[in-house]
Amino acid sequence: MTNQAEMEHLQCVIIGSGPAGYTAAIYAARADLKPVVYTGIVPGGQLTQTTEVDNFPGYPQGITGPIMMEDLKAQAERFGTDVRFGYATKVEFSKDGGTHKVEIDGTKWVSAETVIIATGATAKWLGLPSEEKYNGFGVSACAVCDGFFFKGQDVAIVGAGDTAAEEATYLAKLCRKVYMVVRKDEFKASKAMVHRVQNTANIEVLFNTETEEILGGEQGVNAVRVVNNQTKETRVLDVTGFFVAIGHKPNTELFQGVLDMDETGYLVTKSDSTATNIPGVFACGDVQDHIYRQAITAAGTGCMAALEAERYLAAKESGE
Ligand SMILES: Cc1cc2nc3c(=O)[nH]c(=O)nc-3n(C[C@H](O)[C@H](O)[C@H](O)COP(=O)(O)OP(=O)(O)OC[C@H]3O[C@@H](n4cnc5c(N)ncnc54)[C@H](O)[C@@H]3O)c2cc1C
Repeated sequence: MTNQAEMEHLQCVIIGSGPAGYTAAIYAARADLKPVVYTGIVPGGQLTQTTEVDNFPGYPQGITGPIMMEDLKAQAERFGTDVRFGYATKVEFSKDGGTHKVEIDGTKWVSAETVIIATGATAKWLGLPSEEKYNGFGVSACAVCDGFFFKGQDVAIVGAGDTAAEEATYLAKLCRKVYMVVRKDEFKASKAMVHRVQNTANIEVLFNTETEEILGGEQGVNAVRVVNNQTKETRVLDVTGFFVAIGHKPNTELFQGVLDMDETGYLVTKSDSTATNIPGVFACGDVQDHIYRQAITAAGTGCMAALEAERYLAAKESGE
């Protein structure tokens, strides 16, 4: 149990500082909820790990991920959001509409009337040093985000599931040739998606194949060396883009056994809402969205979460 004495009490605490968390903060602050954002260990979230962001409305010339996230933070702070560097380590949520508690950095507890969870998701990577070296310079974990930069070029994508299949067909519309690198001798994707891949002329599927190294120079990626794990034969693919589509992991360990999740750990929210199974606790962004996973959709649900938090508090105050 937590020690109630001298615990800071907030109207709204926001866990996470990506586009979802900061957008929730902008709306919550403008509604006078005096939100506190705990940034987590990646202040600004996933976009701080990318270079160009070309698809967020409002930036006609594009923007770099880190600058865009500084802009969002500044906008949230302009309305009085208190942005703190801190990591939520434990939660105690009240099931009956009471006060919620969040432990920060394993040392301090805050209590709050409403909690907005915006802890995002983490893309899974192969773990190759060259993958890290060229991340943002030809290596990407998001075809929808970065495919455009490889228009008319040859690219490779790794993965065998529905997302990989969908991203391969997306890339095939933009790129000249798409190599799909599949570790096993079959897809994990649904039949419909496999059918789509097989019927796309410019996708070449390489089964039983693994990535050995991503090759490049000052301009970024210029090839990928793959190996057939049966024959041990290696092959160099002349590609300028390398997409990793082997899944994402939602950052939800903290909420296990507390909030409803799907089988892969994404938080489940009510239909057309960001409400979780606990009154006063809302979830937005990639942590509850395994379909779109975009900055703009994260921002959209961040807005929803703040509006719902405000309405929840208003209803509570008026005794509804
Ligand atoms: C390489 C790359 C390029 C991308 N490019 C684009 C693009 O061009 N356009 C686009 O629309 N989308 C792009 N995306 C996707 C986009 O980044 C995500 O959809 C978006 O960032 C999700 O926002 P979010 O706020 O839900 O979570 P995230 O951005 O994942 O942020 C999560 C936040 O939660 C914090 N956190 C996690 N756990 C805790 C905890 N316990 N306590 C406190 N804080 C915590 C983290 O520190 C982080 O601040 C890209 C993603 C990647 C990986």
